[in-house]
Amino acid sequence: MAMQHVLGLKCTICGAEYGVGEVDYVCPHHGDDGVVDVVYDYAAIGRTFTPERLAQDQTRSIWRYLPLLPVAPDVAAGLANGTVLGSVGWTPLYPAPRLAGALGLAHLWVKDDSRQPTASFKDRASAIAVVKTRERGDAIVTTASTGNAAAALAGLCAAVDQRNVIFVPRTAPQAKVAQLLAFGATVLLVDGTYDQAFELCLEAARAFGWYNRNTAYNPYMSEGKKTAAYEICEQLAAVGAQHAAPPHAPLQAPDVIVVPVGDGCIIGGIHKGLRDLLALGWIDRVPRIVGVQAEGSSPLVDAWERGLEGWEMAPVDAHSVADSIVAGLPRDRIKALRAVRDTGGAYVRVTDEEILAAIPALAQGCGVFAEPAAAAAYAGLVEAVEQGLVAADEKVVVLATGSGLKDVASAMKAVKTEPAVVEPTLADVERVLAH
Ligand SMILES: *Cc1c(COP(=O)(O)O)cnc(C)c1O
Ligand SMILES: [Zn+2]
Repeated sequence: MAMQHVLGLKCTICGAEYGVGEVDYVCPHHGDDGVVDVVYDYAAIGRTFTPERLAQDQTRSIWRYLPLLPVAPDVAAGLANGTVLGSVGWTPLYPAPRLAGALGLAHLWVKDDSRQPTASFKDRASAIAVVKTRERGDAIVTTASTGNAAAALAGLCAAVDQRNVIFVPRTAPQAKVAQLLAFGATVLLVDGTYDQAFELCLEAARAFGWYNRNTAYNPYMSEGKKTAAYEICEQLAAVGAQHAAPPHAPLQAPDVIVVPVGDGCIIGGIHKGLRDLLALGWIDRVPRIVGVQAEGSSPLVDAWERGLEGWEMAPVDAHSVADSIVAGLPRDRIKALRAVRDTGGAYVRVTDEEILAAIPALAQGCGVFAEPAAAAAYAGLVEAVEQGLVAADEKVVVLATGSGLKDVASAMKAVKTEPAVVEPTLADVERVLAH
């Protein structure tokens, strides 16, 4: 069975529409910049896929949204059954009252995607890539990545015995490279930037006929990432039901979602998920989306402030301690700008110092240990509150996109203190505690 409810692919630049068999990746008129949207037949979906049916579904993964995903359902179900691929998604949404209180907010939640199988949000996208590879029968799937997308692809490929080739910048944190090697990926450390690794991966995939997972080039990655928006609105509806809030719509959107942004695929995906739910009539409004970038890698903040379109942006030299959100020319910049502009949201920038400080703040404030890029979202919320972008009584969700174990060196830098060393005697413990 093919993708059930996909009508086609629509170019984000010229609006040209293509059948799914006509285009594998980008709009032919616009080359690698011609990122496309996946267009669904919502009327057909809504006839059989209802909030009631969803509420009864025991599937606790992204696959509970199968009718809204661009995959052949039988292939996806077969691969997910009993494997790690079946555990992607349905991550916890934790209330964070202490963090909220410190910020003067009433309702704050942290969506913890460090709990994904390979410990980052990227599993949501790579899961789709693995299914697409199998649908097509391609022997090899490839990606370029700052690390997490690669670890996700390698891990999920290992789960179903799929060969893969990975391009990561040589500077990727060691834990991410270790994951790749442990999962048995063919790893190429590119002696250059992420942007160079991306270009090289595109060339290699074309030359060797590999299926390409690259962010924003492959149209189906945002479709995996959008599932986080579905989950948030389902999870908040469950919270609302406990408090007997009057139901306006079957699912419940927050007022604000705060997203760390590198290439812009996550933020674009969140926006897509919300638009899907609105089109189905499952939520009654779309929240404001706030994108957070690191100061040393903030071309989207610049473009937003200057009113530029995605196709008018030029590459910048990018650097930050938050390696997962370093992108000199964000690949999904068109969708990333649209997500913020269409929802009345904002872009904010945070310094590396603020990002590092956010690691222990988030860990101690709600028990979620985040890598720098993920902690950047919380740092961004602090900034957004300071700028008056969030009102005290609004419902706010922060995405924690990756585990702190991904980058232990940065975590050690963030905590600053060295643990005390004691002699193995109670007397010495007392001595140290007295200090
Ligand atoms: C990839 C990634 C991001 C940013 O996602 P983009 O789609 O590149 O904007 C944020 N946090 C973590 C942990 C990531 O791995
Ligand atoms: Zn086009």
